Amino acid sequence: MAYFIDVILPIPLQRLFTYSITEAEAQFLQQGMRVAVPFGKSKVYTALVHTIHQTAPEVYEAKEIQQILDETPIITPQQLKHWEWIASYYMASLGEVFRSAVPSAFLLESETIISKFEDGNVDESKLKDDEFLIFEALQHQSLLKIQEISSILGKKNVLSVLKRLIDKEVIQVYEEIYEQYKPKLVRYVKLHTNYASEENLQRLLDSLNRAKKQREVILTLFSISATTKRPISVKELTKQSKASSAVVRALIEKEILEEYFIQKDRIEYNGDEVEASKQLNPYQEAAYKTIETAFKTQDVCLLYGVTSSGKTEVYVKLIEEMINTGKQVLYLLPEIALTTQLITRLQQYFGEKVAVYHSKYSVHERVEVWNNVLNNKPKAQIVIGARSSLLLPFSNLGLIIVDEEHETSFKQFDPAPRYHARDAAIVLAKMHQGKIILGSATPNVESYYNVKNQKYALATITRRYGDVLMPEMELVDIKEKHRKKRMKGHFSDRLLEEIEETLENGEQVILFQNRRGYAPIIECNTCGHSPQCPNCDVSLTYHHYKNQMRCHYCSHHIAMQQQCLACGSHELDTKGFGTQQIEQELNELLPDIKVGRMDLDTTRGKYGHQKIISSFEQQEIQILVGTQMLTKGLDFRNVNLVGIMNADSMLNFPDFRAHERSFQLIQQVAGRAGRTKKRGKVIVQTYNPYHQILQQVSVGNYEAMFTDQLNDRRQFHYPPFYRLIKITLKHKEYNRVNESAAWFAKSLRNSFGENVLGPEFPPIARIRNLYLKHILLKIPKQQSLAKTKDVILRIKTSFLSISEYRSIRIIIDVDTI
Ligand code: ADP
Ligand code: ZN
Ligand code: ZN
Repeated sequence: MAYFIDVILPIPLQRLFTYSITEAEAQFLQQGMRVAVPFGKSKVYTALVHTIHQTAPEVYEAKEIQQILDETPIITPQQLKHWEWIASYYMASLGEVFRSAVPSAFLLESETIISKFEDGNVDESKLKDDEFLIFEALQHQSLLKIQEISSILGKKNVLSVLKRLIDKEVIQVYEEIYEQYKPKLVRYVKLHTNYASEENLQRLLDSLNRAKKQREVILTLFSISATTKRPISVKELTKQSKASSAVVRALIEKEILEEYFIQKDRIEYNGDEVEASKQLNPYQEAAYKTIETAFKTQDVCLLYGVTSSGKTEVYVKLIEEMINTGKQVLYLLPEIALTTQLITRLQQYFGEKVAVYHSKYSVHERVEVWNNVLNNKPKAQIVIGARSSLLLPFSNLGLIIVDEEHETSFKQFDPAPRYHARDAAIVLAKMHQGKIILGSATPNVESYYNVKNQKYALATITRRYGDVLMPEMELVDIKEKHRKKRMKGHFSDRLLEEIEETLENGEQVILFQNRRGYAPIIECNTCGHSPQCPNCDVSLTYHHYKNQMRCHYCSHHIAMQQQCLACGSHELDTKGFGTQQIEQELNELLPDIKVGRMDLDTTRGKYGHQKIISSFEQQEIQILVGTQMLTKGLDFRNVNLVGIMNADSMLNFPDFRAHERSFQLIQQVAGRAGRTKKRGKVIVQTYNPYHQILQQVSVGNYEAMFTDQLNDRRQFHYPPFYRLIKITLKHKEYNRVNESAAWFAKSLRNSFGENVLGPEFPPIARIRNLYLKHILLKIPKQQSLAKTKDVILRIKTSFLSISEYRSIRIIIDVDTI
């Protein structure tokens, strides 16, 4: 009897591949285990077992597997079902889903590079001979390729040795690590354990009768710990007891106090106290009840609560309920909103039940979370993570929370699978018979439409926590201000007045500049030339600090020019403005004020933006200038003014979602102001103060925006009335892209007629030396999506059979946003 397995290879080919196995292997293997298999002439891949059967492939002879890598499956059956849904819905291969789902350590293959496990403590006596050889080799050479390991061991099959070494934490899969920031250590104190008993404590206080200051410190420590269970920092203690740090030091030296350190932004939980969740206020309570009731009959509920209404606390209650039933919970956030602020908050309630899954974490950390989820360990009962945590091996998922559900960054763009995490989460919850909450202060138009159609339930919170009023919004007409000469640089007199007043009150300011469109470019005043990227169709943007001009698409850069490259004129001018320029203008306008900046340039690396957030939180910075990143769920207590430097660049973006997004963005940034005590203020600078969207956002009229948008979308055939599939063709030759795109569009038109738009060049038609052309397919609700995709795939197959077109890259983006 012959035995076979069908496996998933981590490559973009649609089908599964069949390999032959022995009977014993067939007995042992299960779906979801990994095997090393040969592929092509010399490659070795890690593949995932899909099915075990006895049917030989018809057209090729099945090769044998090299070896089995697991003793138990690393993925669950439900997970595989979900992956299959993603692959089919988003027109990707199962292999692509596999590749993007698992930590790279699970995908050993011929190209993998390995290195020593950092801070690994290796017990050499526990290593087998072959393991030791590799360990030793890594003492001399920090990186090894799989091929080199093959020659060290004198054999071809090395993946299983490597897997053992990874499990033993001797080696790791090499990744470029670019993060250098060392998290800040904060000093905390507690009473020394010597004084744990009442009696000893009394004796201590008596003995301090003459040391007044020290006694005061101890009493303050008691009074703080009576009201909070949080660790008490030395900073807080000295501030409240008005003692110097020398007094605290003396108490530590006398072993009355004990000091300890916690990394301020450490993700791993190491406290021991778990706080009780907060008492919900009546509005939160009502929303919570609505959700509970809705969940009796429905699976999806939208929680529409204004910024700072306390949505997180409502989630906490729901999580609490759910984990008591023993089920798993997934808390999804846009990558960049995954801040320590939120993680710490959840850890205070749920302690080490909270696991964080994030692409900026090391492979090792990700493997650990993966395994804890797989084994349904209490340590990962609550997973908080970005998009990809959706692909973890859950087996018993009871609740998914999609926070900031309106965020477009939930859509994966490159590489495939191009899935939308919100939508894929809804499917995942259904597969587990679980529930799902979508939370937002500015719901996505489609989600709200689903509420109106009774597809989703709705819970609302219309007031901020503590009844703080929504910030007051003022639109400032900068055309007028320019005319009346009331602008200093990019600041109107109104904005400057408000900034100064806010700073005088000891409060902080956030200034927002949209990332899109307004990067500073250099233009010649004589001939109008502006330096272009040689690889992309964009102007280079000016970076003041490095005195460079850079391309944002391919990072090509040149030194800043003194003369126009075209005509030699010295009269160069900057047009447009970015966050750097605002920061620079502020430094000139308000030289005594500390300004921080948060954008893609300042926040690379794991801790990049954490660093800026914490110095703003600790008020080392008074004004924070930033882009989109500022909108994401940050909870700063002392910010009372938000300035939007220029609202127009968002509104004018050529995209059917531009208005919706502008509304959301402005509302979200505005939501950072006045969260705790008094009403905040928002200044919006614009050339079009009478623009519909600005009028709507200034009074927070979401319903009006929604109705307008829905009418437009109905009229112009966009979601939620039509689905969109975008097909992009890429090639380095302009003509070839042009011709082939015309061919593709024509074939689509044969089937779909006027619902095919394009082909068209996007605003930036060439990136990294590749020309791009888009075709947009609109799919009416009554048209079968499955059949539509079949037609696209058939056209794609014929397209690729034309030899001149074979080298064209085709990207299919389902539900493009
Ligand atoms: P949202 O996510 O809706 O913007 P948050 O959940 O961040 O709002 O809450 C805003 C602030 O109000 C937070 O600082 C939070 O600690 C506080 N808060 C919310 N609900 C409560 C509550 N029930 N009791 C005490 N504080 C609360
Ligand atoms: Zn010139
Ligand atoms: Zn470029």
